[in-house]
Amino acid sequence: MTTLDTAPADAVRENAPVDGEPCVLIKLGEVVLKGKNRELFERRLADNIRAAVRPIARVDVIRRHGVFIVRTKDADVATVDRLAARIGDVMGIVWAHRAWRVGKDVASVERAALELMDGLTGSFAVRSRRRDKRFPMTSTELDRHVGGQLADAYGQPVRLKNPDHTLSIEVDRDEVFVFSGGLPGQGGLPVGMSGRALVLMSGGIDSPVAAYRMMRRGLRVDYLHFSGMPFTGPESIYKAYALVRELDKFQGGSRLFVVPFGKAQQQIKSSGADRLAVIAQRRLMLRTGELLARRLGGGALITGDALGQVSSQTLANITALDDAVELPILRPLVGMDKIEIIEQARRVRTLEISELPDEDCCTMLAPRRAETRAKIDDLRQIEKRLDVGELAEQLAASVQEHRPVYGDAGTA
Ligand code: ATP
Ligand code: MG
Repeated sequence: MTTLDTAPADAVRENAPVDGEPCVLIKLGEVVLKGKNRELFERRLADNIRAAVRPIARVDVIRRHGVFIVRTKDADVATVDRLAARIGDVMGIVWAHRAWRVGKDVASVERAALELMDGLTGSFAVRSRRRDKRFPMTSTELDRHVGGQLADAYGQPVRLKNPDHTLSIEVDRDEVFVFSGGLPGQGGLPVGMSGRALVLMSGGIDSPVAAYRMMRRGLRVDYLHFSGMPFTGPESIYKAYALVRELDKFQGGSRLFVVPFGKAQQQIKSSGADRLAVIAQRRLMLRTGELLARRLGGGALITGDALGQVSSQTLANITALDDAVELPILRPLVGMDKIEIIEQARRVRTLEISELPDEDCCTMLAPRRAETRAKIDDLRQIEKRLDVGELAEQLAASVQEHRPVYGDAGTA
């Protein structure tokens, strides 16, 4: 037995006679990882799973050949379904199945199969695989045998191609798992495996999707939002808060830092930046972000830029943005169409929040015609007049920290 749980007090006895215990069977992503990385991957994933389900139950995470089994004491089916749903949000998982964990004999498998497919209508197929080849039947024999039992009991036809239902049987070392259906996971790598970075989070559609995509590559993220306060209301902060609270389901422990940016924007405006105002402002956001990221131990900044989507996101302007900071700027949406981004925002459930009205801090600065080919020398001239180094320090010192928690009710 390999259990990663270090709390034996709560541990489920692994060799207890099992006759139908519900559990969650998890299929891992990117299992191509080998050696030391694989060990790190699995440990991190097990920690992340335990943390995500803590409000529901204390669980044991048991590691087997490319799968995890999540068990909890005295679990009922409804609780295990909630566990599976929650586990589907944890990065690094490809499937989460609610499964019956039964003894390694054919009769127990039959009972679980009949129970799972109780009330079966439409065609079905049985698919078996053996991670332990010592089982008395081959996979094909098991498919035929259990399929026959189900057909007799419920009178429904077996169809191997495109069945309405699939019953899966997986023979393991100490037990057999029987399940039907499952929840697709997010894929990717466990959060925390790739380090930490700071997301520049507006209230728009793009930046939450950018955050999601980088968490999925194993980054733990913090969030930085610039509000137009004191010249706008706090609505954009509520939105950023609600967005981070939703995205918190993918990592837990999220932090949102808010900077009142209105006065700095006014200074940019009166500095004569004119057509360069938008880029100058974004450079100031990045500089402030860099100072904060360094304080938090972050190794990169993340933005929702997509090439050519708006006038500030031309190649020349992206170059001018990169020039403002030393930290790398990650832009996971750079090659995506708006339609693809919206689709992804819908799937991660941030779209509805992003579409709420607010007063974007950026509208205040929008000139009649925005620059599409910002010259870095011109920007540096403006920034010299503004003393941006000092300004960024002041802004980074003025951050307010919030801790939005997934599942918490209410507003900011
Ligand atoms: P989004 O939908 O993310 O707002 P956008 O298409 O509106 O993006 P811009 O407004 O040009 O594009 O912003 C580009 C990126 O700059 C955003 O994705 C975000 O990372 C960052 N950004 C813009 N405004 C803010 C803000 N008020 N606070 C923090 N970051 C911001
Ligand atoms: Mg925006």
